[in-house]
Amino acid sequence: MNNDLYDKRTITESGFDEQKSTVKEWSDSLARETGRAPSYFVRTFGCQQNDRDSELAAGIFEEMGFHPAVSPDVADVVLFNTCSVRANADNRFYGHLGNLKPIRKGGRPIIGVFGCMMEQEVHVDTIKQKFPYVDFILGAGDVRVLPYALVETLSDGTGKRKTLDLTTWHGLGDDTSLPVLRADPHRALVTIMTGCNNFCSYCIVPYTRGREISRAYEKILDEARRAVELGAKEIMLLGQNVNSYGNDLRKRGEVDAPTFAELLRDISHLDGLWVVRYMTSHPKDLSDELIAVISREPRVESHIHLPLQSGSDAILRRMNRRYDAAHYLDLVRKLRSCRNGITITTDLIVGFPSETEEDFQQTLHVMEEARFDAAFTFLYSPRVGTPAADWFDESQHEVVRERFMRLVEYQNECSLASNKALEGQVLDVLVDGKSRRDETILSGRTHDDRLVNFAGVLSGSSACQKSWPNEVFDSARIDRGDIVRVLIERANVNSLDGIQIL
Ligand code: SF4
Repeated sequence: MNNDLYDKRTITESGFDEQKSTVKEWSDSLARETGRAPSYFVRTFGCQQNDRDSELAAGIFEEMGFHPAVSPDVADVVLFNTCSVRANADNRFYGHLGNLKPIRKGGRPIIGVFGCMMEQEVHVDTIKQKFPYVDFILGAGDVRVLPYALVETLSDGTGKRKTLDLTTWHGLGDDTSLPVLRADPHRALVTIMTGCNNFCSYCIVPYTRGREISRAYEKILDEARRAVELGAKEIMLLGQNVNSYGNDLRKRGEVDAPTFAELLRDISHLDGLWVVRYMTSHPKDLSDELIAVISREPRVESHIHLPLQSGSDAILRRMNRRYDAAHYLDLVRKLRSCRNGITITTDLIVGFPSETEEDFQQTLHVMEEARFDAAFTFLYSPRVGTPAADWFDESQHEVVRERFMRLVEYQNECSLASNKALEGQVLDVLVDGKSRRDETILSGRTHDDRLVNFAGVLSGSSACQKSWPNEVFDSARIDRGDIVRVLIERANVNSLDGIQIL
């Protein structure tokens, strides 16, 4: 091994390639000896940024000669990608990790963990002490260290040595140079920036993912263009606060670095693309320039996710959100008038420390004004290491739970009313695949990001026929990534049911 390549806990691009080749040689020799290639299983917790990191990890495994396993118990390597945003994701992760103990024999499967939780000492220590059968730990999103971790683990071979802690290691290079195995070939997740500078008082992300770093405009455009050439109909641009894209570049002297609005506009012009989505927008940074792009560019989604969190100015101040309810509602008005039918979805936290009934009523008031088309609603969950965790008062649990039920009930009414308005309309739907609940149902998303279910069978399956009105179609022609027309027959709170028409 050339140690110059791994100096100062940094893996260069050539070091990364060398490590991948070493693991590939091991895979090839295993395949020669046993007649089977080694397999990997990646389990992802949390947000789409983690989904994206897992797609990169899968791409690296494939380049190293691995194939995907259907479950952890038949895999040679199991990799967990963790999330620290909410307590239930922590608990689910530890539950799944504990389930590996009975199946681990003779150092197999090799077990690795990475992601946001591994940026917190408390979790790293817990793993070392309570789950010593974990072979290696990597930091958040630094999948370039994966081949090195595997080389080190394979060179030991006993499965008995201490957990290899590589959380302070990182790799050099842009995502464009990494292999990727997309979970949905018709949808490309493209990271435009990592980290966050905002330090909302309840959020652990700036501590786990670090400060904002924007990728170069050309690299993002290049990645998106290649994805579209390979068949992607949808690009999802990812960042903790996409609206501040480029700020760090401009501060470093790249005065002409494009804004997020310019980046979004240019990506929407890629030939072959159906829709470009983006997540997440911070209300304090949502510019008129971006609203103008939403209004002018038809391939920019007819939807925006704009987290409100609370409608109380006092709570917003304690959350360190740096906008007030009036500013938020002003944005909602501009957005609703800039594009006919745009859907607005949001995140809401109930029970933030010190929230009173009056604060809560102010949240309901903003909801009444905004009429969100959908909302992700959360009970406040303290995250160790954030300022708000010190203010948490558990004794308020029952009061908060009752408020939460009221809020969910009201939002369900709004979501249903929003969906009901579409009954009888024909909508274009980008097909994602089979519904999880029913093999004969397909699901997909509209341009404004509504979930639509309709009867059908994917290509390659047996044909299924249905008629409406006086038309017969062969739904066996439908494939993932197709855009089909669906007549909406019934609205639900979180989805629409319909039938395909020609
Ligand atoms: S904007 Fe606030 S909530 Fe979002 S990632 Fe940054 S600190 Fe967390």
